[in-house]
Order: sequence, then C-alpha cells, then structure tokens
Amino acid sequence: MAEILSYLVGGAVRDELLGLEPRERDWVVVGATPEDMKAAGYRPVGKDFPVFLHPRTQEEYALARTERKTAPGYHGFECHAAPDVSLEEDLQRRDLTINAMARTADGEIIDPWGGQQDIEARRLRHVSPAFSEDPVRILRVARFAARFAPLGFRVADDTLTLMRRMVDNGEVDALVPERVWQETCRALGETQPAAFFHVLTDCGALARLFPWLDGDALAPALARLEQAITLQAPPHVRLAAMLTGVPAPQSALERLEQSLPLPRQWRELADLAIRLCPDYDTHNSAETLLTWLESADAFRRPQRLPELLQACAADRLARGHHNPAARQRLEQALDAAQALDTGAIARAAGPGPQAARAIREARREAIARALDLPHE
Ligand code: ATP
Ligand code: MG
Repeated sequence: MAEILSYLVGGAVRDELLGLEPRERDWVVVGATPEDMKAAGYRPVGKDFPVFLHPRTQEEYALARTERKTAPGYHGFECHAAPDVSLEEDLQRRDLTINAMARTADGEIIDPWGGQQDIEARRLRHVSPAFSEDPVRILRVARFAARFAPLGFRVADDTLTLMRRMVDNGEVDALVPERVWQETCRALGETQPAAFFHVLTDCGALARLFPWLDGDALAPALARLEQAITLQAPPHVRLAAMLTGVPAPQSALERLEQSLPLPRQWRELADLAIRLCPDYDTHNSAETLLTWLESADAFRRPQRLPELLQACAADRLARGHHNPAARQRLEQALDAAQALDTGAIARAAGPGPQAARAIREARREAIARALDLPHE
C-alpha cells in the first residue's frame, strides 16, 4: 500500500494553538494521486475537488491544490490538484493566516504566512491579495470575528480595507443566498454574533445583505441580540429578537425571506415575535391572555411558547424594563388552560362550534382562576 504523506491543516491547527478543542480535523495530502488514495483504502467524496475519507477515522483528506479565479461570479474557479502541488502552495489559497497553517505528524508547525504571529496578536488577516477572489471570505471573516472576538481577535486593518474594496466592486451581490444564509446562521450561533454584524458594517456589506439592520436600526437590534444570548436563546430565537423592534419589522422579515433561504421554523418564530411582542406584558385579564396564547398557536404547539417568550423578554430587557411576571403569567396561563380535559368538555358541549366555544370558555375560566384575574 502506498505511503500517504498528510498534514493536519486549517481550523484544527488554529484551534490547537489557541488551546481549544478542534471541532473537526482536516488533512492535506501531498504527493499523491486519487489512485494512490483509493489504493490506500480512502473513499472519494469530493464533488468539486479531490477529497477522501480516511478508512478508519472518516476524517477528510484533501489532495493539495491551488485555485485560480478564471471568471467573475461564484463558479469561476479553476482548481488544480496534482502530486506536484506543494503544501505551501495549498496553504496560500486559504483565507486567513490563522487558517493557513499545517502540522506534521511530529508536531512541527508549518506556517509560511505568519499565522502564529497573528494568533499572538489576535489578528484576522488575509493570506494574500487572492483573498478578494471569493466574496464568501467576507462572511467567513465576519463569522470568525463572532467566534473569536471573546478571545480579543480583531480584523486587521488592511484586510478590512480589502473587504471594503470588494464590497465597493459589487462582489457581495455575487454571493449565492445559500452561502450567505449558511454563514449568517453559523454566526448567530457563535459566542459573540454582534461582531459578525459589526464587521459587515465596517466593510459596507451590511447595507447590501441586511438593509433592515442598517443605520439607526443596528444598535437596538444588537442590544436585543445581546439579551437573547444572555437568556441562552438558540440562533433562531436570537434572530427573532433582532427582528422585533426594527422599523417596519414585517417588511424586514419579508425581505429576509425573499433574499435568503430562511427555514420555516425561523420564519414562523420571527413572525410571531413581531406580531406578539408588543402585547407581551400588557395583559390584565384572562381574555387578553387567552387571545395572545391563541394567536401564538400555543395550544397546538406549546413547545414554541418558551422560544417566543425568550424573544419578547430579550426585547424588554434591551429596553431596560423587563417584568419577569409577564413571562410567568403567560406560562401559568398556558399551564392552567392545558390542564383541562378538553375532550370531556367537547363531548359534554355537543357537536361543532358549541364544543369549540365551551373549550374556549373553560380555558378562560381556568386562566382567571389560576391567576386570580377578571375574565374580561
Ligand atoms: P471551523 O472550525 O468552523 O470548521 P475551519 O477553519 O476548519 O473552521 P472550514 O470551513 O472547515 O473552516 O474550512 C477548512 C479550511 O479551509 C479553513 O481553515 C481554511 O483554511 C480553508 N477554507 C475554507 N473555506 C475557504 C474559502 N472560502 N476561502 C479560502 N479558504 C477557505
Ligand atoms: Mg473545519
């Protein structure tokens, strides 16, 4: 079996140097052909370039390659993978210096682009001017800022200048919605997603990608995002919290849906938050509580209520007047109404609309009783 010469590369080397547990381990193979890989038991999986899965660990092994921009737009890349491509050449095509390091089996770090120095200096810096050939890198830099801002990382000035030039040249408009969404979604799940939006603002991409956040809308939206994170809300709740409270939120959501492949769960929660947050803490009767819960479809989908309440609480916390009782009241109201045996109530009431009316009446009474509130 042919000997396969491989190096650990990219995120895993970076994370190890940062003292973090790598999320996955990627490898580069130098001096081998696809036939050598298959002969050694690796399974080919790459669609656009030669990548193989290790027969035992299932980790990804990519043949060293270079990339060259041949045409504008998303698919204008020519990839060259061959046994004569060196490790250094492969590292050169990468986006950031901290992602462009390799490690040998003996632990030696190969770092032609100063990645270790930039780790020290907490700097997100591009490897070469070829950075500007792929606009996805703008989003990646913003996402890495969201991940590593808590460690003190900042985008290097010359990288930001380059990114700004790319935006000015209309590169952002060439991004495919799937990639914008993928990076945004991941950024929202990072430790400090606000940094993602700050970096996009600083390079001018925010106005192109998220015009509803641009200008005066940004700071309050980031304050809501911050509070959602404090409440340990998952990414889709974080986005819903951002959207509630922007000017014309429904049209902002519509624009977002039209421009990105927003999953249904995300869209539905954002829509609920936009519609229902304004009345989250205004209830003074069982009737208004019940109506609110009905609008939230909380009886059919009770598992969604905690998420909606998180988004509402994030909004109020960001405005500096959160009343924890508002949340408890809605939770208790739902619990009380759900404790009813609606099947029995419906049977006793008779067919059709009578049953629905009886259930509603019983729910309202249960809420009034549990919370000691007037019905109306
Ligand atoms: P993560 O921890 O999120 O997986 P990562 O650095 O491993 O971070 P990947 O998206 O898994 O990121 O990519 C692996 C490596 O491939 C990166 O470290 C980088 O060197 C390179 N890379 C990925 N996407 C690009 C790109 N669009 N342009 C240049 N290099 C890229
Ligand atoms: Mg990775």
